Parts: sequence; structure tokens; C-alpha cells
Amino acid sequence: ARRSWMARLSAGLRKTGSGITTVFVGTRIDEALYEELEDALLMADTGVKATTQLLQTLRRKVKEHKAADPAAVKALLADALTELLQPLEKPLVIGAHQPTVIMVAGVNGAGKTTSIGKLTRHLADHGQSVLLAAADTFRAAAREQLGVWATRNTVDIISQQGGDPAAVSFDAVSAGRARGKDVVLVDTAGRLPTQLHLMQELTKIRRVITKAYASAPHEVLLVIDGNTGQNALAQVKAFDEALQLTGLIVTKLDGTAKGGVLAAIAQERPVPVYFIGVGEQVQDLQTFKAREFAEALLG
Ligand code: GDP
Repeated sequence: ARRSWMARLSAGLRKTGSGITTVFVGTRIDEALYEELEDALLMADTGVKATTQLLQTLRRKVKEHKAADPAAVKALLADALTELLQPLEKPLVIGAHQPTVIMVAGVNGAGKTTSIGKLTRHLADHGQSVLLAAADTFRAAAREQLGVWATRNTVDIISQQGGDPAAVSFDAVSAGRARGKDVVLVDTAGRLPTQLHLMQELTKIRRVITKAYASAPHEVLLVIDGNTGQNALAQVKAFDEALQLTGLIVTKLDGTAKGGVLAAIAQERPVPVYFIGVGEQVQDLQTFKAREFAEALLG
């Protein structure tokens, strides 16, 4: 039997977060405990700012609650982390527009195509009709992979070999409106010759989507690999500046993820986390819950 997604999440997070759990095995609350905790949080990619904030909050809580032993401190850390992560907990809401147009970006390998497949399935399971747009026209493999997901989920796909990504996006949004679809998911390229090209291309797609449908895109999602730690935070900042992100999908949290990066994101660029990826299968997409995540990270 497959382990529950929570078990896989905490196992994945614990591979790097194990340091955090072991901080609390002693019997004394002293400076050494706080120092070890600081190291463990940094190792889990929580980043300097979020780590500093967490430790400040924790010291205050320990005083307020008169925590008597490390186990009590650990519970208070779970509270502090949950509070920090809470702004990221926000559901993806579909239905205010028909179709809801969702543009999806992410660097190659982040798990973008897989996440679009999972999201398609999730939406279909909730009774939404979906149209896929293969706007990553550069990689034939990306188009084919998206085609496989479309077939598997029996949804329409707009795709054009070597075409202009913006034109494919325009056609897909127009087709989505004409066919009365609930959701149009636009898959974009994850790598071009230069980073500048990529951002220009993505902003062009964004503009052209708005030409096809004035209120769109309604959502701009970035898929990030939870294993890439602080680099994921840099990606969130760069893509947010270029595209005004509305949400994130954080993948591979069942792996050796340095999940602390979500605390860094919450601290420095709180873009909501609509979903987390906890495996390669179609059902391995979960909504993000701050409390669950905090407890999984602390092991
Ligand atoms: P893209 O280049 O961003 O479109 O990335 P892909 O969707 O092709 O995914 C890259 C690799 O990561 C594939 O082998 C996926 O199966 C894998 N992958 C994607 N999401 C997850 C996840 O949540 N957990 C795990 N373990 N693997 C994932």
C-alpha cells in the first residue's frame, strides 16, 4: 500500500529537517538549544530572515507560556511556524470567470508539466471542463508530454508545432471562450536561450492572453521545485516581478525537500501556495495547509 501523502511529506521533509527534530531530544532549554535550532533551520533552507523571526517569536512564546522542557518548546515552534506560513494558505478559487484562465510558468525540471497534469485531473474531479494550451512550442517533448496528460484526462488541447507561443495562447483562450470551458491552462516554456528572453516571452504571452480576454489571465502560477531551497525563493521574486504571480505550486516535497524555503517565501515574498506536489502520480497533488506542513517539517 502506498504511504499516506502526509507520511511521504514528513519523510521527505525530515531528510533535511531531521536536524530540527534532534534539537529537542535533550532535557534543558538553554542557549545551546536555540543555537542548534538556528543551525537546523538554516540547514532546512529557512533563510536568515525567516530564521531570525522564528527564533524571536519562539523566545517570546517560551516566556509567555513558561515552557518547561524542549518538547514544549518544539510545540511552540510548530505554532510559530504555522503563524508564519499561514498567509500562504489560500485556496485556488475557480468560477468567477468563464473560462478562468490560468497561466503556468516554471523553470525546466521544476515539475511544471506534471503539475499541470495533476491540476487538470484535480479540476476535472471537481466537475470543471479544462482546455490545455501547449505554449511551450520550443520543446517538442514538452508538447508531447502535455498531450499524454490531455489524453489521459480526456481534455482538449491546443498545440502547434514550432508556432508562436503567444499565438497559441491567444488561440487557446479564444477557443476556451467559444467552447464554454471552465478553465484554460496555459503551459509556458521553462527555458529559452537567455533568462531575459524567457521573461520577455512570458510577459508577451501574458499581454496577448489579455487581448484575447480582457479580464485574463485570472491566475498566474509558478511551479517551483521544493528541493532547490533558496534558489526557489529567487525564482519566486524574479517571476513575480515579471508576471505578478497569484499562486505557487511547490513540487517534490516527498523527496529530499528543504521545505524550510516556504518559511523564507512567507517572510520575503508571500505568494500563496495553492498546491504541493508529493509524488509523481496524478493524485499526488495536495492543498497546502500551514499547520500540517509545519508539523511535517518538524517531524
Ligand atoms: P518540467 O520540465 O517543469 O515540465 O518538469 P516535469 O513535469 O517534466 O517533471 C520533472 C521530473 O520531476 C519528472 O520526472 C517528474 O515525474 C518529477 N516530479 C514532478 N513533480 C513531482 C513531485 O511532486 N514529486 C516527485 N517525487 N517527483 C515529481
